[in-house]
Amino acid sequence: MRALGRVGGFLAGALFAASSAAAPSLVLDVALDPSTRRLDAVAQLPAPANAHVALYDALSISRVTLSGRPVSFVQTGSEGNLRVWRVQAAPGAPLRIEYGGVLPALDPQLDFRRVLQELPPLTSPAGSFLGAGSGWYPRPAPLFSYRVRLSLPGDQRGLVPGRLLREQEPRDAGGRYVAQFAFERPAEGIDLMAGPYVVREQLVARAAGEPLRLRTYFYPELAPLAEGYLSDSARYIARYEKEIGAYPFAGFSVVASPLPTGFGMPTLTYIGAQVLRLPFIRASSLGHEVLHNWWGNGVYVHYAHGNWSEGLTTFMADYAYKEEASPEEARAARLAWLRDFASLPPGEPQSLAEFRTRAHGAAAAIGYGKAAFVFYMLRDLIGPDAFARGVRSFWRAQRFRVASWADLQRAFEQASGRSLAAFFAQWVERSGAPDVRIASARFRKGAIEVTLVQSNPPYALRVPLEIVGENGSETRLVELDRAQQTVSLPVSGSPQGLRLDPDLRLWRVLDPAELPPILRQWILSGAPRVVIASAALRADVMALAGQLFENRAGEIPLSEAHRDAQPVLLVGLHPEVDAALAALGLPPEPDRLAGRGTAQVWTLVRSAAATPIAVISVRDADALRALARPLPHYGAQSFLAFEGARAIERGVWPAPAPFVPLTR
Ligand SMILES: [Zn+2]
Repeated sequence: MRALGRVGGFLAGALFAASSAAAPSLVLDVALDPSTRRLDAVAQLPAPANAHVALYDALSISRVTLSGRPVSFVQTGSEGNLRVWRVQAAPGAPLRIEYGGVLPALDPQLDFRRVLQELPPLTSPAGSFLGAGSGWYPRPAPLFSYRVRLSLPGDQRGLVPGRLLREQEPRDAGGRYVAQFAFERPAEGIDLMAGPYVVREQLVARAAGEPLRLRTYFYPELAPLAEGYLSDSARYIARYEKEIGAYPFAGFSVVASPLPTGFGMPTLTYIGAQVLRLPFIRASSLGHEVLHNWWGNGVYVHYAHGNWSEGLTTFMADYAYKEEASPEEARAARLAWLRDFASLPPGEPQSLAEFRTRAHGAAAAIGYGKAAFVFYMLRDLIGPDAFARGVRSFWRAQRFRVASWADLQRAFEQASGRSLAAFFAQWVERSGAPDVRIASARFRKGAIEVTLVQSNPPYALRVPLEIVGENGSETRLVELDRAQQTVSLPVSGSPQGLRLDPDLRLWRVLDPAELPPILRQWILSGAPRVVIASAALRADVMALAGQLFENRAGEIPLSEAHRDAQPVLLVGLHPEVDAALAALGLPPEPDRLAGRGTAQVWTLVRSAAATPIAVISVRDADALRALARPLPHYGAQSFLAFEGARAIERGVWPAPAPFVPLTR
């Protein structure tokens, strides 16, 4: 839900330290008319060091003055879709630049796969988004503070990140809405959003200073959701103030976007209007975006050394909510991260130190999943109290500074009173994961002698070993820091066997048996194959296959279903699917799905060598057609039941750690 990294990797600590004391500031007076798409603006700023001003190419400078006197300016070239102008002024001279033009239309029907920051400034009566990197204003420096006065036609409302200084409602039917904002901290840029919004506000009293201004900028049809978003925003802010420290800004807004995307900025989040209706946005994504006001926008990321903010935010938001729900949900979240990692394409994955932004799924598996898992292991290692102290002291020390993994390490070392050099080196600098296995285990004279093997060069690990006895089990932590190591564990009673890390507390390469088959394996298959059990459904089956699979599926007869290791999807009406499963010698429909809804979907748990088979069993052709839209969204599931297009049951097959019996 976030696109960070506008300034890329050049943001050095020294640069920031110099500019944080007195960041150059920009004063903008902007009039936007979405119906004509016309932008007119006056910018006051210190002349940039190279006297170059870059603006989006549809915008032209009409006049530049210095203390009221005209200054000459020429267009010198272009960079991408920016025009570069050269202004005759000494660096730092207080310039006043008048500029304007007609912006491209924002078309909500477009398929936006690119992050918003790569878009040109876009406007329409249904909504406008002028991204921080789109060249809609002249930039005085890489980091700067700003004041913006925004004027819009009376039916439009809009904002930029920052403190709302004042606003004026239109005085009459043809009047304009005017609002002024200030962002006093060094910012990487300015995003401007506008639309035909209804603004709802809630002021939250604070122990010190003025009340916090919470707002929603929603389309009229979303108005019933505003109350819930305001109270949840207040709840998340209160939660993280308690966990970390005072909320660092004057307010927080949730802004509806006409584009189907989500984006976080200081003091606000910009979320697709369609997405805002989904319950998990309020339950999880909103908390994630609120927390970015501390991590990412309150403490800045030293990109050149790796983006830690997504991992810490994911750990303290998304993952924390799962942990509060139940230990099972927390384990499922860890399993999902390990599984995403296990499914990365071959080739050395990047390390946390190399992660910048979520450019693709593989980067997200590292920068979000692995990074969050590392914070989970860190808390496991130093204990929850030391972890909580470390978080608060990191915030106190780094507020509005650029921080790196090394600063996090220092904060947690101080909080725990121990060196974490080896921990951070192996998890942050090194890519990949250890592959830990039980090589042998035997029971002799009241002790288990277990030999563990792992990757070389070895990691330093505390490996949880579950000792399974006749009357229950207990878990011991074994220190492992060599490629092969034998330890002796004294035990009482008569132990039966061992399981390695059954609760998934270690970032590691999972055993194939620990990876439950999920639909994503079929969806992403390079050469998916379909067996049609009911010939009458052929056209609908192939239509569904076109929706479901990323690659083109081929049809094969039932007799070839076992041919090789490529995933197979078996589809048909209930009786014909049952008959096909029996003919293949496969188990029947699982009990927990039988008779539920109009369609059931499941993957078969089988040995690693066998053909992966998934089954779709439907009541009739309508039930099959109803799956085409929802099913591709359930890649993380092993089984589902649908009533029409609605999933009424879903889950992931259990995939416990392999049991290693003890020899005697
Ligand atoms: Zn994020």
